[in-house]
Amino acid sequence: MQTVLFHSTIFGPIHSRRLGTSLGINLSPADGKVCSFDCLYCEAGFNAQGPGKAGLPSRADVARLLEEKLVQMSSAGERLDVITFSGNGEPTMHPDFEGIIDDTIRLRDKYFPEVKISVLSNATRLDRPDVVRALRRVDNNILKLDSAIESTVQSIDRPVSPSYSAEKAIEGIAQFPGQAIIQTMLLRGQDEGKAIDNTTPEHIEALLEACRRIKPRSIMLYSIDRATPCRTLEKVSREEIEEIASRFRAEGFDVQVN
Ligand code: SF4
Repeated sequence: MQTVLFHSTIFGPIHSRRLGTSLGINLSPADGKVCSFDCLYCEAGFNAQGPGKAGLPSRADVARLLEEKLVQMSSAGERLDVITFSGNGEPTMHPDFEGIIDDTIRLRDKYFPEVKISVLSNATRLDRPDVVRALRRVDNNILKLDSAIESTVQSIDRPVSPSYSAEKAIEGIAQFPGQAIIQTMLLRGQDEGKAIDNTTPEHIEALLEACRRIKPRSIMLYSIDRATPCRTLEKVSREEIEEIASRFRAEGFDVQVN
């Protein structure tokens, strides 16, 4: 079984095709996965592997480990572009997410004031005022929206809570006009005999309509890059993604293809 990628709270720095030289912060357990989605393409594997035994890192531990790493990188004169919250699950599920963002901003300002702070979130917790406040304070508020069509999000992202809906997610993301960065994984394939394709004209039109409502700062379109736990997914070619991007650009959206 494909299992978690990150075995520590602070990881990297790694070179990210989307973000540059990135120091990662994993707010999920170091030996398991905690996420409100269970995406077919999740590089950290399926939720079925369980949350592990280590538990969530405490706010104090995250700040201490981050400071140690930043001190070490700063003394070594290492380059850093971005501090990125990602890891083995959904970072906004951490109960101290807002406080951790405050600590990270303080430490960034102290050691690497030019560095950006990014959060990769699946946008399932935007009904929480503390999460919304925290996301407003980061430089790159990157929110997943793999499809604006309910049945497709259910098939690809497999939300854990039955109360999730694509409509609620879009309303949540629309709280950040001009700030949210939409991230959409384009793919096709099948799962349990069901065909999946979020690149059809109907899907692209629904996503465009969602973006008209959200008014994002930019849109990141990408496809599968590494092994996925569901083996029957197909990567969408860069040419095809560029073609889809041109539809968004024609309406004035800023689009990055990764
Ligand atoms: S939201 Fe991210 S961490 Fe969660 S299952 Fe999907 S890809 Fe994995």
